Amino acid sequence: MRALLTNQGTAADETGLCYSCYPDEKNQKYAREMASRCDDIDPNSEFVDCTENDAIGCCICIAEVDNIVKEYKMTVTEALQLIEKNKGLLALNYCIIYASHALNMIEAKHTNELKGQLKYVLNNMTRWRQCKASTTTAMEIKECRAILKKASL
Ligand SMILES: [Zn+2]
Repeated sequence: MRALLTNQGTAADETGLCYSCYPDEKNQKYAREMASRCDDIDPNSEFVDCTENDAIGCCICIAEVDNIVKEYKMTVTEALQLIEKNKGLLALNYCIIYASHALNMIEAKHTNELKGQLKYVLNNMTRWRQCKASTTTAMEIKECRAILKKASL
């Protein structure tokens, strides 16, 4: 994780870039644009390593998650909560743990690791179908799968 520093010398959350987003110049330009909207960050300063700072999230990954949320009625968070709601189903046996972990990542803004985590969730819900033991519909399961798939790419 890298970010621009504020005038006080602390990493600015608005400008955070994870290791997969940082190398792309277009993403660095976006982070500098975010910095120019804040009056205590010099948008032309150098990005510094702030991996140790847990409070910094990636501004690009968060924007991507927001875009996914706009396209579907169900949000990534709701999709994961739907899985949690179905705990007890054999088909979601291991999936529940991965889904809870993904929800914690969203809450902690650790979105740079979220894509990988969603892949684990998806790999462990392949046997999930509509069933009498749950009120979740086949359509909801389909949408849940679609949104997590999109968010994991
Ligand atoms: Zn990122």
